[in-house]
Amino acid sequence: MDSARSWLQKLQPRDKVRGLSRKKEAGSNGSTDDCTDEEGMSNTTKQKVAAAKQYIENHYKEQMKNLQERRERRNILEKKLADADVSEEDQNNLIKFLEKKETEYMRLQRHKMGADDFELLTMIGKGAFGEVRVCREKTTGHVYAMKKLKKSEMLRRGQVEHVRAERNLLAEVDSNCIVKLYCSFQDDEFLYLIMEYLPGGDMMTLLMRKDTLTEDEARFYVAETVLAIESIHKHNYIHRDIKPDNLLLDRFGHLRLSDFGLCKPLDCSTLGENDFSVMNNVNGAAQNQEQPGVPKRTQQEQLEHWQKNRRTLAYSTVGTPDYIAPEVLLKKGYGMECDWWSLGAIMYEMLVGYPPFYSDDPMSTCRKIVNWKAHLKFPEEAKLSLEAKDLITKLLCNVNQRSGSKGADEIKAHPWFDGVNWDKLYQVEAAFIPEVNDELDTQNFENFEESDHQPNTSSKTGPWRRMLSSKDINFVGYTYKNFEIVNDYQAAGIAELKKSTKPSRPSVKSLFENEVEETSES
Ligand code: ADP
Ligand code: MG
Repeated sequence: MDSARSWLQKLQPRDKVRGLSRKKEAGSNGSTDDCTDEEGMSNTTKQKVAAAKQYIENHYKEQMKNLQERRERRNILEKKLADADVSEEDQNNLIKFLEKKETEYMRLQRHKMGADDFELLTMIGKGAFGEVRVCREKTTGHVYAMKKLKKSEMLRRGQVEHVRAERNLLAEVDSNCIVKLYCSFQDDEFLYLIMEYLPGGDMMTLLMRKDTLTEDEARFYVAETVLAIESIHKHNYIHRDIKPDNLLLDRFGHLRLSDFGLCKPLDCSTLGENDFSVMNNVNGAAQNQEQPGVPKRTQQEQLEHWQKNRRTLAYSTVGTPDYIAPEVLLKKGYGMECDWWSLGAIMYEMLVGYPPFYSDDPMSTCRKIVNWKAHLKFPEEAKLSLEAKDLITKLLCNVNQRSGSKGADEIKAHPWFDGVNWDKLYQVEAAFIPEVNDELDTQNFENFEESDHQPNTSSKTGPWRRMLSSKDINFVGYTYKNFEIVNDYQAAGIAELKKSTKPSRPSVKSLFENEVEETSES
């Protein structure tokens, strides 16, 4: 606070002098200057001083709050360590580790990061809005994953609010089961999220390598997904796009949920109300491979078909609707239960090899999902246990009957999970330990051609490409407020802020917001 005062003192005399000299000038020609008052300070200067004072006070208040929170975190850790059976050496090491993380975090906060601070390395993901790359921070050498999102694409699709939700969620929820966000920043063209790099790959890649999982293997991943979903629900977020490619694996094979906020809009606009009506079920059932006269595929054939198509679908701009809950597709209004539906679809896929409503094209999948009663079948060949079938059926069902609607404990208590130690899950050995040779190893990810890494090159030339106006550039500050976010299935796959939550790590957020304010004012 001292430096704030001296800063103000420096400012005041100079302005007072300037104000007085103006008064003198005014007095000499006998008129009174509107802009001056008795103390000789112009109104504008007064306002500036007040604003500066406010700014500085807020800054220090924030800093004090951060310090206090830091102290509290240390106290909690010390208390936990004292209660646990940990040697003194381990205790010291853990405290040192926490302090190192805190310092790193504060350094990131102080420094206004930009894309130039990172060396971009291998591309590990590519989506409708941009790409994900392994990167190295130039000054520290630390390795992160950088998700780079093209602003014009997000604007065009009205996804700005969802990206904001993603950033907020990542910043707020500090959990083992969620990918950690270190900072976010933007330039004229892109928005950047700097996250921890999870070298174990994603669940989609794992499932493609394994075809199906045993029930024991699946139990591990499904259980960790339950914990991840539970932790975001506790913060009043709904993910809405839980699917294997958004379940990432860390160095030790433990699962973390990611991709909060971006959607790949599925254009179902050609479907009429009738397509979604259960009354229309008889027609709905007769899609694709189930058309009369067309022989039904065996489980193996269906698996091969799915595997051939899934990557294309996952990387396409429409995305896959395979895991989306019917109520989300039907725009009926939905709650947290929709994430438990997705869990059911993923569990089915792990054990059967393909998702429960897989169809040749996404529209038919949507139809099957809304008419799920007629389409949910367990192939004999998959030999699922009774408990597994029972749990899946309790997840893939109407909202009011769905397990999890009264909280995750309902799911955790299901007999299929018998023997799972929920509290120690993240400490046990993972079902598969990924091969990772060094911190930059990307062997668990798909190879992406550098030449076609430009997302949606057509967006540069297409007739609908809008020129970026200055408002577009400042989209996060101004334009997002004008966006009507249509919460329908076209925007399926969005982490949504249902209720306003008090951020537990406001500083990461404010780092971003300050930037936004600055850009929006410029
Ligand atoms: P999209 O909106 O394009 O689906 P995601 O955030 O899901 O974006 O990232 C796409 C892919 O990039 C993921 O499926 C995963 O393979 C990879 N990926 C994303 N974030 C990370 C991360 N922090 N560490 C490792 N891989 C990641
Ligand atoms: Mg994704």
